[in-house]
Amino acid sequence: MNQKRIAVIGGGPAGLAAAELLTLSGHAVTVYDAMPTFARKFLLAGKSGLNITHSEDYDRFATRFGAASARLRPALDAFTPDDVRDWAAGLGTKTFVGSSGRVFPDVMKASPLLRAWLKRLEAQGATLRTRHRWIGFADQGYVFETPEGRSIVHCDAALLALGGASWPRLGSDARWPPWLLERGIEIDAFQPANCGFVVGWSQNFRERFAGEPVKSVTATSDAGTFPGEFIITANGIEGSLVYAHAASLRDRLESHGSAALTLDLAPGRTLERLTRDLARQDAKSSFSNRLRKGAGIDGVKAALFREFAPERDRTDLKRLAGMIKALPIPVLDTRPIAEAISSAGGIRWTSIDEGFMLKALPGTFVAGEMLDWEAPTGGYLLTACLATGRAAARGIEAWLSR
Ligand SMILES: Cc1cc2nc3c(=O)[nH]c(=O)nc-3n(C[C@H](O)[C@H](O)[C@H](O)COP(=O)(O)OP(=O)(O)OC[C@H]3O[C@@H](n4cnc5c(N)ncnc54)[C@H](O)[C@@H]3O)c2cc1C
Repeated sequence: MNQKRIAVIGGGPAGLAAAELLTLSGHAVTVYDAMPTFARKFLLAGKSGLNITHSEDYDRFATRFGAASARLRPALDAFTPDDVRDWAAGLGTKTFVGSSGRVFPDVMKASPLLRAWLKRLEAQGATLRTRHRWIGFADQGYVFETPEGRSIVHCDAALLALGGASWPRLGSDARWPPWLLERGIEIDAFQPANCGFVVGWSQNFRERFAGEPVKSVTATSDAGTFPGEFIITANGIEGSLVYAHAASLRDRLESHGSAALTLDLAPGRTLERLTRDLARQDAKSSFSNRLRKGAGIDGVKAALFREFAPERDRTDLKRLAGMIKALPIPVLDTRPIAEAISSAGGIRWTSIDEGFMLKALPGTFVAGEMLDWEAPTGGYLLTACLATGRAAARGIEAWLSR
């Protein structure tokens, strides 16, 4: 075959997935990463169990990427959640479906999978280069800062898989947009996704409850109503239930200037039953006792109620029950993108073709979180990064053999 030189810039899940297909086709592939080791964010994801994909019905799965779902679909069709599980198993990591339908490695971490993956890549002929930071274009090539100084890499095609903008200290620090913007590529500013929010706690509440989980509630926003749990932080709220609402709260903050997450603190009882249960309480007993005995609410939930329910809603039974079923927690801002699980924004779909090539830079392809899509937590992020990496690899092959 006609061997080509291909530079994969960014050694996270998207870049490594592309390198895997390209080496299998016999190309001379070099993977460059700015950091001293590859895929640091993938390893960090492993610290919380590595939710690698999701087992829900595939047609539902494929709609989890919002406005980008249609553009992502061909890449996902070619690397489905079942394929992700088979691929992991091929690298010696068996997976299981958790109670929520999320899929995890048996070992609940990423390191064995990553080790096996890098080893297999090298065995397939990939050259792996760390401490190589791409810093832009020059002389028809890609300029890198390396421990030995600057160097320019010339190749037949390149894939940029530089990640999004969350957790920049793990490598994806989003310094690259200016170099692509000046080449006419359209990029939407990065925003936090799957992020926490700032809440204006009273000092007393913050001191007593920062770090406490709030369990067995449902939360409502424009995104819908979901059960789950979240955590009170010194500055606000974070955790899976908050992340499920993060995109809609963020977008509402932007469009309306204000937003609230509405909690049902007693999701097991209907409004009618709750009103009856509260009515049965001795009017002379303390408010705390009535909340605890009549609604099963105490501790952090009772404190949340006191933080945000107006005084007048505590005396009228119907209003009290209504407030327990729909307590708005006003959120003031997103927490910084550096703390977010992932980012929204990135290279616009209008700037790339069906093969993930930048229309304004023929021969340069893109994949992973640096593209403009977002998804909730649940294994969707990693699946789409792997799938777009592989789709870009096929795009490179098609372009090179055109
Ligand atoms: C705490 C946390 C937990 C997560 N848990 C999960 C989970 O359980 N399930 C899930 O699906 N997703 C999870 N994610 C998200 C997931 O890890 C990311 O979506 C995914 O890693 C993105 O892959 P990527 O290849 O696009 O980019 P990245 O993984 O960010 O990789 C990009 C690579 O490019 C390199 N790079 C950047 N700029 C340059 C440059 N100029 N020159 C050279 N190299 C460069 C970086 O060093 C990095 O190695 C989690 C994220 C975080 C932060």
